[in-house]
Amino acid sequence: MRILVVEDEHKIANALKKGLMQESFAVDVSYDADDGLAMATTEEYDLVILDRMLPGAQDGLAIVSAMREEKIHTPVLMLTAKDRVIDKVTGLNAGADDYLVKPFAFEELMARVRALLRRPQDSKGQELAHEDLTLNTLTFEVKRAAQPIALSNKEYGLLEYLMRNPERILTKDNIIAHVWDYDANILPNTVEVYIGYLRSKIDKPFKTKELIHTVRGFGYKFGAR
Ligand code: CA
Repeated sequence: MRILVVEDEHKIANALKKGLMQESFAVDVSYDADDGLAMATTEEYDLVILDRMLPGAQDGLAIVSAMREEKIHTPVLMLTAKDRVIDKVTGLNAGADDYLVKPFAFEELMARVRALLRRPQDSKGQELAHEDLTLNTLTFEVKRAAQPIALSNKEYGLLEYLMRNPERILTKDNIIAHVWDYDANILPNTVEVYIGYLRSKIDKPFKTKELIHTVRGFGYKFGAR
């Protein structure tokens, strides 16, 4: 899953990027409002973490308002140093989904990020499950037929994206947009290579249903078919 961080304080922005990458997210950082607005409205993100106070003509409120006007419904977690009730209300009214007051503990930020990424169909809360394959977004444990499977950071990120979008044709461009960050070095066959790694770990060793399918000419589909 890919996250955009818009935060002018480099120290906080870089700490967020590092922490989120350790949690297997692809992360882009923007240090100013104009750039942040452009990225939020032209790139595909699964979540935006937006500082409220940004230098320049626009602030975080303007960015979230502009996103909502353009019918971009990506969840937005707003950060701010202000903790007055009125600021929370204006942030939420402008279209933010949640609000976190600085300074905050990274654990709390992660809990809010996970809550915002959780969708109603993910009935088991932090665990995604399809057939006998499970992925725990809190502990990063992946199991098939109750057997633990060790995945690299990127394999895990790819599997999480596939499991959150089951029974849907996902193009390579969709996959790149949600699993790799903007600066990532993507080769033409990068997605195929990682799909291959995942298949060799979650499908091939098991005699049960294959979960990763190639849709020739289009891309891939995850699910029991
Ligand atoms: Ca700021």
